[in-house]
Amino acid sequence: MSTSPLPYRVGYGEDAHRLAPGRPLILGGVPVPQAEHGAVAHSDGDAVLHAVADALLSGLALGDIGQYFPDTAAQWRGMDSRLILARALALVREQGYVPLNVAVVVTLDQPKLGPLRAEIAQQLAGLLGLAAAEVGVSFKTSEGLAPQHVQTRVSLLLGRVHE
Ligand SMILES: [Zn+2]
Repeated sequence: MSTSPLPYRVGYGEDAHRLAPGRPLILGGVPVPQAEHGAVAHSDGDAVLHAVADALLSGLALGDIGQYFPDTAAQWRGMDSRLILARALALVREQGYVPLNVAVVVTLDQPKLGPLRAEIAQQLAGLLGLAAAEVGVSFKTSEGLAPQHVQTRVSLLLGRVHE
């Protein structure tokens, strides 16, 4: 095995939250205005940002966000998940890598998210230091298999920064 750092590393993350009435639904840092149900979570329940953060960490074998933000810690209650993403990104940068492109899949039955695609891509791009064209956002439904859940899957590519 080579001892020199790999020029590229792939990362993958998943997240899911149960949905319930009377809660906001936030995906990729974007509030979903027509949502009648929101994520049940310790933090703000942003399943996109949680999966992106886990994908960043997994790409460098740095563990997962549960290790850095345990859901038993009162200080993280209701927290803005953009802070979770920022922490994961900082850890990746400390290792000499930056994200190059990201692919996000959101599975949600209601409401339809198509109108928010550009806004979510733009928001994620801003948080990750990418162009919007480097952030792919796909929407699926569960076909009624999991109507009370939001699920996300994220793969991304990390590139080593040359000094
Ligand atoms: Zn989550």
